[in-house]
Amino acid sequence: MVSRTGFRRYLWWARSPWLLAALNLLCVVGLCAVSAFMLWDMRRDAERRATGAAQSLVQVLGRDIARSIGMYDLSLRAIVDGWRLPAVMNADPETRQLILFDRAANAENFGHTLVFDRSGTLIISSKSLNPEPLSYADREYFQYHATHKDLGLHVSVPIVSRLTGRWALIISRRLSNPDGSFAGVVLGSIYLDYFRQLFAALDPNHAGTVTLYGPGGTIVMREPYDEQLVGRSVSATDSYQRMLQTRQGVFTGPVMIGEGTRTFAVAQVGELPLQLSIALTAEDIYAAWWQKALVLAAVVLSLCATTIVLTTLFQRELTRRKAAQRATAALNAELQQLASTDALTGLGNRRRFDEVLARECQRATRTGKPLSLLILDADHFKGFNDRYGHQQGDEALRLIAQAMRGSIHAYSDTAYRIGGEEFAVILPDTGEPSAEAAANRIRQAVLAQAVPHASNPHGLVTVSCGVAAAPSVRDCKPVTLIAAADAALYEAKRQGRNLVRTTAVERPFSVIEGGR
Ligand code: GH3
Ligand code: MG
Ligand code: MG
Repeated sequence: MVSRTGFRRYLWWARSPWLLAALNLLCVVGLCAVSAFMLWDMRRDAERRATGAAQSLVQVLGRDIARSIGMYDLSLRAIVDGWRLPAVMNADPETRQLILFDRAANAENFGHTLVFDRSGTLIISSKSLNPEPLSYADREYFQYHATHKDLGLHVSVPIVSRLTGRWALIISRRLSNPDGSFAGVVLGSIYLDYFRQLFAALDPNHAGTVTLYGPGGTIVMREPYDEQLVGRSVSATDSYQRMLQTRQGVFTGPVMIGEGTRTFAVAQVGELPLQLSIALTAEDIYAAWWQKALVLAAVVLSLCATTIVLTTLFQRELTRRKAAQRATAALNAELQQLASTDALTGLGNRRRFDEVLARECQRATRTGKPLSLLILDADHFKGFNDRYGHQQGDEALRLIAQAMRGSIHAYSDTAYRIGGEEFAVILPDTGEPSAEAAANRIRQAVLAQAVPHASNPHGLVTVSCGVAAAPSVRDCKPVTLIAAADAALYEAKRQGRNLVRTTAVERPFSVIEGGR
């Protein structure tokens, strides 16, 4: 189990505002990347579905149209076959009519079925026993059959019927004599209304424009319906040519009428010279996708924004807390400094002295290096206070502290005020000669300040100093060292003051410690 502290350690990263920002950025970028990929995938899916639906639709429509025209063509073939039989052609008009024209030829939207002789004169009509002998020799399909031996089905461009005045597509076959010479034409007309109704019956929700193209790229029918466009040729357009090559499939290209680009799903109508297309706009394909994309983008952006805002707030809080922690740490350090500093002289106080001496004693014991201690005391200081006043006394103590500071190695030795007019210096890694030298430097520095002191036989403020020098001692104890220094100080006082006296601390300490 992870302990509370361990868990906090695992969360070390949460305490770094920059790392937090970087992780946040990574999350936001990751979220956006995943969403972008999803949107792109959904978009491809939308395109696949839209084009797939359009392709199915053109194929179904194409098969329907091919089947209807095929049925009508069967009627034309029956007429071609019947026309070859003299018994049929010599029968009375009513019987001949019944034999030649089956019910299919009379179906709704299928117009007149007509037979012309080789001069183009109407000789037989499905709707009349005595048709008017009109000439159709000028019609394109008639001229085609007159000049081509091809016996296959011919499909015309959309034309306006001369008999009914309605737009129709003419399907026709050549009548040939036994020797193969041209004998006439049989034709059937399919009103364009048939295609219009077929297209109108499509699911009203289907997308795109449905168009049926006849020979030569002429528009036969279009949904939504526009009569102006019927009969117009689009054969010169790139997309029409591409449709002929593609036969069945999907491609994107410029529109055939007007401006813009469309995705075309195209299909060939059987083996007839007819093509079907459904042209989809980008809007048709992506309308639903756009709606989803906008919702998803809004959700993702809101999430990103929320994450960024929350992280920024958290980051700010973190920075604020860190600043507060730093301020508290600085305040603590300052308090600690104050707690261990003597207010009058700025030297370390008794507390600090005890701490440092204990630490240095431990270190000296551990390393076996020498350690020295100086204890200084202002001479006849009571008399100084009495004569010059307490305030001057304080100033004299400050001057003694200044003299101490200037006489020791700042990087290793430390000075303290440990009592009223008592001072101390701890000298790590220092043996007796150097310690004595330091004590004398201090003593002389105090003397050199030449502070007048009439109650002192020396006439100036002086200090006496006891030195305790412990060379390579084991089991060094602060109390031992202090006692030794005190003893030396006592000697200095006794011998006349303004003196330095030393007690070398050797093992055992028992002599100095009072017979232990
Ligand atoms: P000796 O040479 O034997 O040390 O004589 P002394 O007068 O210095 O010693 P004693 O212990 O009799 O007197 C110490 C005096 O130091 C008493 C007090 O007036 C003075 N003193 C102690 N602390 C302070 C202080 O903070 N400021 C001032 N101005 N005087 C102080
Ligand atoms: Mg004293
Ligand atoms: Mg004194």
